[in-house]
Amino acid sequence: MNALVENWHSEAQRESKIELSIVIPLYNEYEVITIMHERLSAVLASLDIPCQLVLVDDGSRDGTPNMMKRLAEADPAVKAVFLSRNFGKEAALTAGLDHAAGDAVIIMDADLQDPPELIPQMLRAWKGGADVVCMRRRSRAGESWFKRYSAHRFYRVLNAISEVDIPADTGDFRLLSRKAVDALSQLNERNRYMKGLFAWIGLPTTVIEYDRLPRAAGVTKWDYLSLFNLAFQGITSFSTTPLRLAMAAGLMTALFGVLFTLWIVVKALVLGDPVQGYPSLISMITILGGAQLLSIGLLGEYLGKTYYETKQRPVYLVREVVSRRNTVNKRES
Ligand code: UDP
Ligand code: MG
Repeated sequence: MNALVENWHSEAQRESKIELSIVIPLYNEYEVITIMHERLSAVLASLDIPCQLVLVDDGSRDGTPNMMKRLAEADPAVKAVFLSRNFGKEAALTAGLDHAAGDAVIIMDADLQDPPELIPQMLRAWKGGADVVCMRRRSRAGESWFKRYSAHRFYRVLNAISEVDIPADTGDFRLLSRKAVDALSQLNERNRYMKGLFAWIGLPTTVIEYDRLPRAAGVTKWDYLSLFNLAFQGITSFSTTPLRLAMAAGLMTALFGVLFTLWIVVKALVLGDPVQGYPSLISMITILGGAQLLSIGLLGEYLGKTYYETKQRPVYLVREVVSRRNTVNKRES
């Protein structure tokens, strides 16, 4: 550790009041954890304010927990929170926010796709009065054309149909004031689509644009199926428009069915053209059957969500917290 970092530690230890917490969820991030810690430490040292690094291990299966423990034992600014298993990024973020003590909390990914060098700029926006500082991706290097395009379309669709205004092209990289973090912890839902929750709380928001970098090391934890799931979660957590669309489609089909029946009756009675019509019959049955099953499935999705919410299970379970410094923590105190 260099002298600059050492100096920042003693500074931070003297003051028990933490001004800035950085929350980072980690799932199998063995390759990046050291370089992430180094780069963050350099930035935090230059800030000259008491900082805290909350690392949340989301049930990693590689060397991540060991590395985190070593960091937390060596560096008093690090608080390592270990979840009991892999709960998913959204739950890990929630755990991190609950364990953060700072007046301002910054959320970032472990892979350095969100450059730590932007932190001073985010702090300036916070000091300027913003409760939420969103980082909007101007570009996304190292990500496929399809991923960029689908992400872009998804945010447009979600915004068009959900009750809250979710800023397009912003990830989880953002700064939250203490007020915003406390507001967020009041939202007790189990299904945590964080981007939606961030938007739901409102509060004065500043948007800063940045260029998203490729991963520093390691591989992405999201395949297209899990991204699709996340997108579906986002839509069904923040909008009942799909249900209304299903209803509208049902209404249109019923209307068409009535007209079609009239036409059949006229054809049979007036034009004397009875029976026949096996093709039309079978196509109507399959189309209607498909539409019905789809709508029931959709309904089931919302019902399933309600089912999970009523269980009131905790969002995550902590196995262990390792930290050299005793920081006051809302939920623990
Ligand atoms: N992550 C997590 N739990 C998971 C999956 C991912 O905590 O189940 C973390 C991961 O370690 C990283 C962040 O979420 O810090 C973003 O993951 P990743 O970089 O793989 O996503 P991408 O940037 O490709 O969208
Ligand atoms: Mg990433």
